[in-house]
Amino acid sequence: NREIHLASRPQGWPTAENFRLVETEVPKAGPGQLLVRNRYMSVDPYMRGRMNDAKSYVAPYALDAPLDGGAVGEVVAGEADGFAPGDTVLHGLGWREYALVDAHSARKVDPDLAPVSAYLGVLGMVGLTAYAGLLEVAGMRPGETVFVSAAAGAVGSLVGQIAKLRGAARVVGSAGSAAKVERLTALGFDAAFDYHDRPIRESLKVAAPQGIDVYFDNVGGDHLEAAISALRPHGRVALCGMIAQYNDEVPPAAPRNLAQVIGKRLTVRGFLAGDHQGLRDQFVQEMAGWLREGRVSYDETVVDGVENAPSAFLGLLRGDNLGKMLVRL
Ligand code: NDP
Repeated sequence: NREIHLASRPQGWPTAENFRLVETEVPKAGPGQLLVRNRYMSVDPYMRGRMNDAKSYVAPYALDAPLDGGAVGEVVAGEADGFAPGDTVLHGLGWREYALVDAHSARKVDPDLAPVSAYLGVLGMVGLTAYAGLLEVAGMRPGETVFVSAAAGAVGSLVGQIAKLRGAARVVGSAGSAAKVERLTALGFDAAFDYHDRPIRESLKVAAPQGIDVYFDNVGGDHLEAAISALRPHGRVALCGMIAQYNDEVPPAAPRNLAQVIGKRLTVRGFLAGDHQGLRDQFVQEMAGWLREGRVSYDETVVDGVENAPSAFLGLLRGDNLGKMLVRL
């Protein structure tokens, strides 16, 4: 059995020296375990984060131990309910030729439904990421314009196709080469561009002159910045990944922890109070009650005379006020 261990933690871009090929005995299956001959293993962007010794939504990889991740293979030995030698299973112990898998963490897949590699991609997490992110998280609706980055990649290429199938009016993708851009057109994207060619904001303006409604972000950084500019009011962004910064040694501009929005599944939503007039009567009633009962206090900082209005305004920006800044006329 050959497997890959993490030999050291990468600083910036990983290099071959961070990995070590190790030969081991093929393990023996105990009760409830399956010995699986892996046929395909997945390599995924999130694995870069796990190579750091930093707490995240998944534990870091240990040093001098095999890495892990999605894999499919055939059961060659082991006895466990519902499994038999010859079964094809999906499990989490990739980066090795033979895996000793707890039966409860293996899932049987049907090799007749699709080539088994598909369970690591289009029919697996990757496909679900695209489908759920676009339809449930971003809430794409028919007739909308969708932009997706890393569009020629595993997730991005599915996002674009699902968007078209679900009635998007226009789907735009960005990718890193002319060949990828050509592929996107063949996949049915309405427009595509190489993000190296010119500022993304400019390319996006040409590709989606009316703006976009949904941005599916795989990249972060300049892509997210350009997308925010192109988004129309009430647009939605599904933050899926920020691959542009995974190898950064120096953090990007503040908010430097923006990527935590992904792991914590945060909703960050802009709003304008004016859109919420429907709450006004309820609000005034409840607030007036709290004031009457002395449960809400409010401060006022009052400047006298219209001639002092400019300095009151400047004072507000400086922080001279406690509570509401007012000018008494
Ligand atoms: P991909 O197949 O998309 O491969 C990664 C691609 O990223 C590369 O092909 C490259 O394409 C592009 N890329 C790399 N660096 C940059 C950069 N600096 N700027 C722009 N593009 C770059 O990987 P996946 O489909 O597996 O993952 C896509 C994204 O989705 C990742 O950010 C990943 O972390 C995230 N993800 C999130 C999940 C979730 O549950 N939230 C689940 C799965 C994935 P190019 O030539 O176009 O630059």
